[in-house]
Amino acid sequence: MASSIVLFGPPGAGKGTQAGNIVAITGKPQVSTGDMLRAALVEGTALGLEAKGYMEAGQLVPDDVIIGLIEERLTQSDASDGVLFDGFPRTIAQAEALAEIADVSVVIAIEVPDGRIVDRICGRYTCNSCDAVYHDTFNPTQTPEICDHCGHTKMKRRADDNEETVRTRLAAYHEQTAPLADWYRHRDLFVAVDGDQDIDMVSASISAVL
Ligand code: ADP
Ligand code: ADP
Ligand code: ZN
Repeated sequence: MASSIVLFGPPGAGKGTQAGNIVAITGKPQVSTGDMLRAALVEGTALGLEAKGYMEAGQLVPDDVIIGLIEERLTQSDASDGVLFDGFPRTIAQAEALAEIADVSVVIAIEVPDGRIVDRICGRYTCNSCDAVYHDTFNPTQTPEICDHCGHTKMKRRADDNEETVRTRLAAYHEQTAPLADWYRHRDLFVAVDGDQDIDMVSASISAVL
């Protein structure tokens, strides 16, 4: 069976930032549950409506909703050689469901101390066209307001990227998601990289794992 990669870590660890590089190396498409939920929200689908309240509050969307979303995504033809999961699984129940439907070859955990997370998330912005990820101070666009990757001039910020919601998301991470580290360690799939260094250094550490 084709194998998939899981990108793991707290909100703001740099998963989205590193995903592009991993996609370039492995050729596996990025599957971000956060991006899929936000797309559903913009489209106003039933799924989007169901997820909205949880996302705005910084709480996890229920497992059955997320697992259904992933099951459907994995039936698409580009997923046949495995994918790069970004932001999934986030609970033991999600990891158990994933083990039934896909083969995971490695879980790459980007480790960043809690004390860094609020600054990272509160300075985050993305290109409104290509979703490239930037940061007000740590990784700004080269020319203000112009996307380095596609030249687009409109940037956006997420409604849930505020200090209060970040604290709720971090609490959810520690309670519901962090226990997955041991779950994957027991299965010999867990590799940690130091996410508290420059973006290029994190990329190099991840490339070394791959
Ligand atoms: P995640 O997908 O894990 O939530 P992101 O990739 O969106 O995280 O990164 C969160 C914010 O931190 C973004 O604004 C990004 O530009 C910034 N960032 C990512 N990696 C680093 C790093 N190694 N050092 C400093 N800032 C970073
Ligand atoms: P971040 O990495 O910054 O926390 P994401 O884009 O991964 O952001 O997720 C945004 C929100 O979407 C989460 O706070 C949560 O409400 C919801 N979400 C995303 N992925 C999952 C998942 N696998 N399980 C439950 N909720 C999820
Ligand atoms: Zn762009």
